[in-house]
Amino acid sequence: MAAPVVSLVDLHKSYRLGETQVQALQGASLDLHPGEFTALVGPSGSGKSTLLNMAGCIDQPDRGQVLLAGRDVSRLSDDERSRLRNRKIGFIFQSFNLIPVLDVVENVELPLLIQPGIAAAERRERAMQAIAEVELEGFARQRPDRLSGGQRQRVAIARALITRPVLVLADEPTANLDSATTQRIVDLMRALNETRGVTFFFSTHDENLIRQVARVVHISDGRILDAQGVVPNPSGPR
Ligand code: ADP
Ligand code: MG
Repeated sequence: MAAPVVSLVDLHKSYRLGETQVQALQGASLDLHPGEFTALVGPSGSGKSTLLNMAGCIDQPDRGQVLLAGRDVSRLSDDERSRLRNRKIGFIFQSFNLIPVLDVVENVELPLLIQPGIAAAERRERAMQAIAEVELEGFARQRPDRLSGGQRQRVAIARALITRPVLVLADEPTANLDSATTQRIVDLMRALNETRGVTFFFSTHDENLIRQVARVVHISDGRILDAQGVVPNPSGPR
């Protein structure tokens, strides 16, 4: 098997909440391999968002290692880490996190603005391609508030893919969507996974969605239950 896109090794993370320390991660370990399509499943408060934030270099563990494309993220400077994050990882959030004053194409090209050496024309062209991939061509000049929830999430997917990342992380991407829209979003992610080989890792509660995923990883109290390696999903498609 190819080297993992990301390895999470014995991650610990606690948060201070008033007088108490909340243990969000207590020795979570996980490898994600190129081309995998993996769901992260666990009850509310089990550490899903914290784990995704570590994998995405949004936050750092108190203890343990995050290896991204073979590099130990903790050894990088803030600048190097930001650059690695911008180039290698795409993010999709439950609440879409689009910028309301920007239209669809401007939202989608945002991650490219901080990459030096990409001319405005190329940026626009790549944004339009990404918008076409999520079938929103007719909406490029609309602002997010004119779009439905499913359309907004498709904009967020286009924005996540614009840098051609090796890993796309999504934190409950369908939690705000109805079941028909959820199905469209999953079909889209699945198609991008299959045609582009993008590794997807997303948290979800949705049983219907979980059944469609090849690999399901369970988290409870800040620990991955079915730890390393590929655990086949018995009800999944392969
Ligand atoms: P999930 O995404 O599975 O609901 P989280 O990763 O958000 O779980 O949270 C795991 C635990 O850490 C929870 O007990 C939560 O309350 C706590 N937690 C998460 N973020 C913070 C924070 N910024 N400050 C304090 N506690 C936090
Ligand atoms: Mg969460």
